[in-house]
Amino acid sequence: MHELYERDVLTKLREIGAKKILIQTPEGLKKEALYLAEFLRKEGVDVIISGDINYGACDPADREARMLGCDALIHLGHSYMQLNLDVPTIFIPAFAKVDVIGALEKNLGKIRRLGKRIALVTTVQHIRNLESAKTFLEKNGFNVSIGDGDSRVSFKGQVIGCNFTAAKVEKDVDGILFIGAGYFHPIGVALSTRKPTLAVNPYSGDAIWLEREVERIIRKRWAQIAKAYDAQRFGVIVSTKKGQLRLGDAKRVMDLLREHGREAYLIAMNYINYPSLEGFDFDAYVVVACPRVPIDDAENWRKPVLTPKEVELLLGVREEYEFDEIFGGERRKDEPLGISLKL
Ligand code: SF4
Repeated sequence: MHELYERDVLTKLREIGAKKILIQTPEGLKKEALYLAEFLRKEGVDVIISGDINYGACDPADREARMLGCDALIHLGHSYMQLNLDVPTIFIPAFAKVDVIGALEKNLGKIRRLGKRIALVTTVQHIRNLESAKTFLEKNGFNVSIGDGDSRVSFKGQVIGCNFTAAKVEKDVDGILFIGAGYFHPIGVALSTRKPTLAVNPYSGDAIWLEREVERIIRKRWAQIAKAYDAQRFGVIVSTKKGQLRLGDAKRVMDLLREHGREAYLIAMNYINYPSLEGFDFDAYVVVACPRVPIDDAENWRKPVLTPKEVELLLGVREEYEFDEIFGGERRKDEPLGISLKL
């Protein structure tokens, strides 16, 4: 069970006079959502739980909260992303209670192969352990940098699936050390930085290198680009999720396609998936929304699906493969390492 700060949440709700709230949760925190709903209900708060699956802070249910007559939204699992919110929103990140030092100690040999100068990144789950990880590594002779990241993330050293600015530190580094589980984030780190990347999993104690996986993905992306080579009619997809809306980028992609003699139609979707598009019969699609959709879901699309940067490769206006990211502005300061209330 993750920490829910339920007393602090209640205090904040009372401060803003919220009597009816919506709770939004990712798949993995449904138990916590129910627990929090029960706690708040006993304290006299009227609670609705959103049944929609949530994948990121890019998709707060603040509009839905307003439609349902709620005074506030509680968003579980992710840290705050700078967005114009329709109702006061409390972000409760899911911080893991796992020791990262043991996993680093076990993998010191591999970490040394990264080189002496390393950038250290992680997801919000382990952000509270980042400073102690840095101290441990420095005691073991490494020169460790933690990047600021831009305003799309809340904390120094934090990466999310569409933003790896914290991995791009000012100092030149030999490699990137990612702390966390799974492939999703470290692959993004390696694709975005193109630096040797090692991912240390604090749960299993294992460590994986990402180079081979990155080469495999880039080969597959070139195959998608090749498949789209003769495409005439493109569906350019934008998202209606607040934190994925990139209308300016979509316009640039449409203009570029048209300048190169292709047809381009703008499509707006909330949940971007191929089956919903099947009847349109475009020759190819460009996703100008979450950059992970084309990268991680292309196998479920029967038509080529590209990122905006891949369109530039297709049309010959770019030569080097580059990962698509969503950037924010300058990140002003760290969020408090707990819940945060945003208006
Ligand atoms: S845009 Fe995609 S990768 Fe970025 S936070 Fe949203 S779901 Fe995650």
